[in-house]
Amino acid sequence: MTSAMTTRSFRRNENTHTHARSSSTNILCMRLLVVEDEYDIQSFLQQALFEAGYAVDLARDGKTAEGLAKGNAYDILIVDLGLPDQDGINLITRLRQIGVHAPVLILSARRSVDDRVRGLEQGGDDYLTKPFALAELLARLRNLLKRNAPQGSELTRLRVQDLELDLLRREATRSGQPLQLTPQEFVLLEYLCRNAGRVVTRSMILDKVWGMRIQPDTNVVDVHIYRLRGKVDGNGQWPLIRTLRGVGYVLQDR
Ligand code: CA
Repeated sequence: MTSAMTTRSFRRNENTHTHARSSSTNILCMRLLVVEDEYDIQSFLQQALFEAGYAVDLARDGKTAEGLAKGNAYDILIVDLGLPDQDGINLITRLRQIGVHAPVLILSARRSVDDRVRGLEQGGDDYLTKPFALAELLARLRNLLKRNAPQGSELTRLRVQDLELDLLRREATRSGQPLQLTPQEFVLLEYLCRNAGRVVTRSMILDKVWGMRIQPDTNVVDVHIYRLRGKVDGNGQWPLIRTLRGVGYVLQDR
């Protein structure tokens, strides 16, 4: 039996499909906008957040950020305060004015109590000072997502047969037993669950799970499916992930 369950992010994309979105848009992950002008921090965040299973867009200044936030539905915005064209606080105020309600995590070198209070009073939902520990940033992001999740846990869970995914905690269980998945394996399994009962091809998976980052002739999909299958179907359980030779994969929903 399949329980057809929707999630917040899925609904969000249905509701906002009229907005311009690039074809490489990753519709599976929680989607973040990072507004940061320092190149080192920006590229560190892009890589680290991607590895943690988030889809990340980048803006180096407030004007670019505003354009991106108008055209895309983000789950969280990470905003630096010292931007080249304006103060980050002004940007947050502006975003709230144009109807962007996603939680904002301020990431700033300004450490004084006054700065932090001002940031939180003017539309920031959380404040982390630089330098920061990645683990703390990730924990704060999870908290913000949890706090802003709609009421009712069914909106943040996917279930296919005895397989269950908690989309906020990024945890999966089969028959109640936790599966130790990497962030990328989780995203892949989430994609298979959303398409349960339907065949997904390698190129669909590459596009939706890895975006444009990987060469099309790579075997990254096969490698990840192989590992995922070992974890999901590995304990002598009824196999859920089926390979259709030369076509793709399907997660069995009955
Ligand atoms: Ca800066």
